[in-house]
Amino acid sequence: MKYISTRGGGQPKSFEEVILTGLAPDGGLYVPEQLPQFSRQEIASWSSLSYQELALKIISPFVDGAIPEHDLQKIIAKSYSTFRHDDIAPLVKTGDNEWILELFHGPTLAFKDFALQFLGNLLDYTLEKRQQKVVIMGATSGDTGSAAIEGCRRCTNIDIFILHPHERVSEVQRRQMTTVRADNIHNIAMHGNFDDCQNMVKASFSDQSFLPDGRQLVAVNSINWARIMAQIVYYFWASLKLGGPDQAVSFSVPTGNFGDIFAGYLAHKMGLPIAQLVIATNQNDILHRCISRNDHTTRPLEQSLAPSMDIMISSNFERLLFDLYDRDGAVITQLMADAKVGSMQLTESALTRAQQLFSSYRCDDKGMVDLIRKTYEDVDYLLDPHTAIGLAAARECRADFDTPMVTLATAHPAKFPDAVKAAGYPKDPELPDHLADLFEREEYFTTLDNDSVAVQKFIADNISV
Ligand SMILES: *Cc1c(COP(=O)(O)O)cnc(C)c1O
Repeated sequence: MKYISTRGGGQPKSFEEVILTGLAPDGGLYVPEQLPQFSRQEIASWSSLSYQELALKIISPFVDGAIPEHDLQKIIAKSYSTFRHDDIAPLVKTGDNEWILELFHGPTLAFKDFALQFLGNLLDYTLEKRQQKVVIMGATSGDTGSAAIEGCRRCTNIDIFILHPHERVSEVQRRQMTTVRADNIHNIAMHGNFDDCQNMVKASFSDQSFLPDGRQLVAVNSINWARIMAQIVYYFWASLKLGGPDQAVSFSVPTGNFGDIFAGYLAHKMGLPIAQLVIATNQNDILHRCISRNDHTTRPLEQSLAPSMDIMISSNFERLLFDLYDRDGAVITQLMADAKVGSMQLTESALTRAQQLFSSYRCDDKGMVDLIRKTYEDVDYLLDPHTAIGLAAARECRADFDTPMVTLATAHPAKFPDAVKAAGYPKDPELPDHLADLFEREEYFTTLDNDSVAVQKFIADNISV
């Protein structure tokens, strides 16, 4: 299996090359040259597999021999052994044929553990085989950083540098990153906002001359193909639990960078019957405006109580557009240039194609807080703010009640106590046992200015492995 860039440039790349880098040299994102296809019969035969066994079936064709099957199996087993629920991704019923898929039983309590536990083990294995060392550099508004650190803390061939905006991530999120003590883990609290951190990372990827010879940067945000790939699995998992593949299932996905929901789109393209994919956004609603009325105009970013969805330009949307425009890299290059300067317009036919599968809804802080309250009052279930937005969208966009509607629960409510308190919940949502002493642990981080010389010097000076 080879991988190509959404901008159409360069030669097809191998699986290993793709997971060990960031963007393609032409600025595009890597996607598989063609998708594996599964028949209904084949999918049906997986109904009694464990999560790990199912993951092997779905991931194998993408890896396509780059890792021997037995080793891949071990990587998968190790990655999900850190989850604290036997089902890995359990389903909870919250209404009439309405379900929540809990994706927060991993070490850092957000769905990002599904991809980053796996990516850490995958990189470790690959680097060991290649006798290579790399540097991970990433920006985080909260959840990515802690999941990446947990995923890579034991990787002997990786140094990891995570930039977060100083004093602008929640205390739980910050502590989940800064209390991990290991020689290869470096937290940088950078003066500025998330965009400044993101821009610093982008600039460093495009000129890596500050690194010692032989080192390269690897991305851990969802431009990395391996992250998307790992997330396809739970769509199959949930469907199989709810009567699939004979029964189609719908999903509502709290969306930021469009990575999670894009994995659902791929599951559908690979043969899984999915009736609807609902894009749930907060007040930063550019994707909702684009899908519902072809308005992809950037507006100033607003801070919300669901901060992991406070994103203006969703990087993985480009991967969907690539398909909607019949994989024409030149068209995508132009569209992305338009998006960058403020507005991009889809053709009628591309929009219509998207709308056949996708619907969308915007839920602001008030609607979200109301639904958190209503849900714990009505069914005694505490939602995190992102999941609440997903559930609001599921209820709004749902086409029928015969099709199971699954909302992806992307985080544990204890990660976002502010929203839970705003909903009038009478106590602090409790952290699970393994994080119960989080507020007593010592923190380790370095505060730096928004200055590429300073940041890059810090990285060069602290490469340890
Ligand atoms: C990252 C994140 C999202 C957004 O996921 P994307 O793949 O970027 O769309 C939603 N909710 C939570 C809790 C997250 O951490």
